[in-house]
Amino acid sequence: MRVPITKSSVSLVFLFAIVGVWVACAPVPTATPVSSPTIVRPASPIATRSPTAQTVPLPTATTLPTITPTSSPIIPPTPPRLSDLAQDKSVFLKGLIKAEQATLDRLAGATVYAIDVQIADDLLSLKGQQHVRYTNREGKSLNAIYFQLFPNAAGGKSTLSAISVDGQSVDPVYEFKESAARIPLPTPLHSGKQVIIQMDFQVQVAQKMEINYGLFGYFEGVLVLDEFYPVIPVYDQTGWNVQYPPPNADTSFFDASFYIVRVTAPEKLIVAASGTRVNQQREGNQQVLTFAAGPARDFYFAASERFTAVGDTIGETTINSYAFAERKEGAQTALRVAKDAVKIYNARLGEYPYTELDVVSTPMLALGIEYPGIIGITLREYDPNEKISGLPSQVYLESTVAHEVVHQWFYNVVGNDQIDEPWLDESLAQYVTGLYYLDTYGETGAQTYRNNGWAARWDRLNRAKIPIGLPAATYKANEYSPIVYGRGPFFIQALAEKMGQATFDRFLREYYQSHKWGIGTSAAFKQLAERNCQCDLTAMFDEWVYRK
Ligand SMILES: [Zn+2]
Repeated sequence: MRVPITKSSVSLVFLFAIVGVWVACAPVPTATPVSSPTIVRPASPIATRSPTAQTVPLPTATTLPTITPTSSPIIPPTPPRLSDLAQDKSVFLKGLIKAEQATLDRLAGATVYAIDVQIADDLLSLKGQQHVRYTNREGKSLNAIYFQLFPNAAGGKSTLSAISVDGQSVDPVYEFKESAARIPLPTPLHSGKQVIIQMDFQVQVAQKMEINYGLFGYFEGVLVLDEFYPVIPVYDQTGWNVQYPPPNADTSFFDASFYIVRVTAPEKLIVAASGTRVNQQREGNQQVLTFAAGPARDFYFAASERFTAVGDTIGETTINSYAFAERKEGAQTALRVAKDAVKIYNARLGEYPYTELDVVSTPMLALGIEYPGIIGITLREYDPNEKISGLPSQVYLESTVAHEVVHQWFYNVVGNDQIDEPWLDESLAQYVTGLYYLDTYGETGAQTYRNNGWAARWDRLNRAKIPIGLPAATYKANEYSPIVYGRGPFFIQALAEKMGQATFDRFLREYYQSHKWGIGTSAAFKQLAERNCQCDLTAMFDEWVYRK
């Protein structure tokens, strides 16, 4: 993303168009000029495209079971500890399609977060207790583990207390303007060994959208919680990937992990979250919801009393689309696009791994944002009377949903360093969105999308041949979107032409399968492409990706 934001991959593509309008005093953006009259429009009216959509039953006060009183008046029932639930990986089976369930055995050493979070009645603060099981998979001993505190860079505040390592109290060292805490380990953690880190955290949520683009805070009756918990960054051959969140681009880079999260919240809140709800109870005027998510790069949830939802299924996956009640038509459109996108990407890339995908409309300055198993879309796109950069909001709603859904494949299942190699998920997401339009509307529709979504952005820099593969912070603010989102997909398209489309398609499926729940790099991407085409792509990568 950009500015002092905290999240992983917002659609900067769209974001910069928005920023031009909403944040900066920039001239009216020309990214998608009104002079492009060939807008992609559905072949049939949007509202009629989801005839099978069903209203999803949502938790309400009347459907929540009350806690069963114990037969003993003296000893209250002891709920299973979250950390014990997480230890037994079977709790994650419900969230994975059958073909993906063997993953649980393959990722035995992945980090497990057990998080208990209580939301204050005014929705402006959180209290949390976190139990993290971390296994050193790095091939060398570690003397400390970092936790990133994104609220401290996003207009809120995160404070830690009661930190312990295997039961031994430790003091953190705050770094990077308190956006990270270095937790010293009392004894070195050798390769292959585990450690339990526990801590309490308190969070004040932001109330000013401009600081975080509306991804973290309480806005217009919607609580959005982008990286609210202390989270461990990736450790690789360069050491810990930790820094103050850079401006302009996405800022998260996490290993695939397991999350079990218990949310205690006012009972009227409708909560949309990563993963699958595995338990719900009512305690007084509070609801207690437990979610299991994993493998997943991150855990996110949004909550509002104003949400309603519609849902549909494709294969083993249920798709839920949340929006304010008065925006139900937009929710239906988002549901239809998400369903079509999952179907298309399942066929082209490999199967979506989860049994649930949520689309949630929230007030944000960005147009969209992806998280594991859930994507956020700005509610402006749900307003039929709204125009964005001169185009009807429905046009943006379709392209934003199609783009963010791609990130379930590239960003979540296949991770990448979004700070240093953002093109790997963003340029790919733009290219694959073009495939959504191709499969949905044919070549004419795809060409219109490419004109509006890619060319118009790159044209803003007069098609400057700035490399697409630079670290996000290297780009000037006006370069990032035109190059990574505009020029980037043209490189992927040129690569497909050079390799031959069938070979490229096979390569992309293999990239997805071979890097599942791991991390892709530019070098690995190139190497695998070359193996598939039996050709040397060095000159092409130099021309588009690397050369200054
Ligand atoms: Zn994106």
